[in-house]
Amino acid sequence: MTVAVVLFTSDLRLHDHPPLRAALAAADEVVPLFVRDPAVRAAGFDVPNRAAFLAGCLADLDASLRRRGGRLIVRSGPVAREVRAVAAECGATEVHLAAGITGFAHRREERLRAALGADGVALRVHDSVITAVAPGALTPAGSGHFAVFTPYFRRWSQQALRDPLPAPHTVRVPDAARGEEPPRRADAGGVSAGLPPGGETAGRERFAAWARADLARYEDRHDDLAADGTSRLSPYLHFGALSPVELVHRARRTGGPGAEAFVRQLCWRDFHHQVLAARPDASVRDYRTRQDRWRGEDEAADDIAAWKEGRTGYPVVDAGMRQLRAEGWMHNRARLLTASFLTKTLYVDWRIGARHFLDLLVDGDIVNNQLNWQWVAGTGTDSRPHRVLNPVRQGRRYDPDGTYVRRWVPELADVAADVVHEPWRLPAERRAVLGYPEPLVGLGDGLARFRHARGLG
Ligand code: FAD
Repeated sequence: MTVAVVLFTSDLRLHDHPPLRAALAAADEVVPLFVRDPAVRAAGFDVPNRAAFLAGCLADLDASLRRRGGRLIVRSGPVAREVRAVAAECGATEVHLAAGITGFAHRREERLRAALGADGVALRVHDSVITAVAPGALTPAGSGHFAVFTPYFRRWSQQALRDPLPAPHTVRVPDAARGEEPPRRADAGGVSAGLPPGGETAGRERFAAWARADLARYEDRHDDLAADGTSRLSPYLHFGALSPVELVHRARRTGGPGAEAFVRQLCWRDFHHQVLAARPDASVRDYRTRQDRWRGEDEAADDIAAWKEGRTGYPVVDAGMRQLRAEGWMHNRARLLTASFLTKTLYVDWRIGARHFLDLLVDGDIVNNQLNWQWVAGTGTDSRPHRVLNPVRQGRRYDPDGTYVRRWVPELADVAADVVHEPWRLPAERRAVLGYPEPLVGLGDGLARFRHARGLG
């Protein structure tokens, strides 16, 4: 009887899972393993919203495996030690794993290789599980990665993707495989009230329903804050409950401008992954320095607190920050606006904003979060690094009648559309009754500070 282990990490699904498929082809029995590594907590990744969503993903994976005659084995401890122990207990000769992208994932892979190698157990690492196209698979002439999105998108679009794999019918798990109770969603305290359910089943249902109702309109509506017409699949993609390869195939099969625009967003995800794979330091350091001398907690504590709490006095910024806290998720246009406001208008270090997002976002992701923050801060891959988004103009454009603002900022619930993005234009007596803060800083003053700091005059 041959045995293989599949170590699940950011790929918590059964459909389109190359490591699982390879393990099932190679061995009679398979151990589907998830390890709760204390290093994840130590690195600050294990925050309530993601812990709760993860619990949903693990419960769903276990249920799906049980329907196929198997079960999920959950262990706690340093990942290399646990995988090695499970392999020894079950007599496994190989371990299958999705290729990781972050520095954290690479260190994990190195430790696994060393630990398993000592026992003569083979480690097999599979590409295009976490991304559609593997980082490093596409390179421009003379460089190890693409630093500009458009040429990357062109090459990525021409790349043939492998066919998606079906979920297995049967998974036989060796009797010797022992684990513990998976974590429960209820164990994660301080979870946002509007958090979606985790898991492959919920993710597949969400995609199917959204594709039916909204995919065709995605191109027209993806920037409309109030319409909320984007897929909200990001947490499912973050935990790998959905496969990016499968989503690209399914969207392309549907066709049309909406599907094309959606596929383009999935390419942004791959683009950032290949940047971070080439430049792991970009998770903490400027990808391209602009010689910023950012303000930090010591200089800007009150501004940072007001931004985090959604009390900046700029309605669309405050709406975004309050949505983040309430749902553990924020609309992309609001992420752009709130991040631009912190880094450019308040001239606060992008790392402070990125950390706050990571503390709350259910899709919070070192790759996409840090590189999008850098993009907005102008230290990343944006070709217009000094652009500053004006929250009033953006509010009027992407939330013209103020529905998004009123949804999240109840103080402004009765304010008319023509002033909802500029409540300071209301008479002083009316403002006093609303209880909504005055602007933290004038937009002109913020812009002047930023331009001066960047040496733009
Ligand atoms: P849709 O519009 O439906 O897009 C489909 C999928 O494409 C998304 O689920 C996502 O996986 C991918 N995608 C879309 N836009 C981007 C993008 N700009 N970069 C990378 N992938 C993208 N996304 C994360 O997944 N995790 C994060 O931590 C994260 N932090 C961000 C921080 C800032 C400051 C900004 C500006 C953006 C951030 N994004 C992040 C990207 C984007 O905002 C979210 O992926 C998107 O809002 C998720 O909603 P959706 O699933 O409805 O997206």
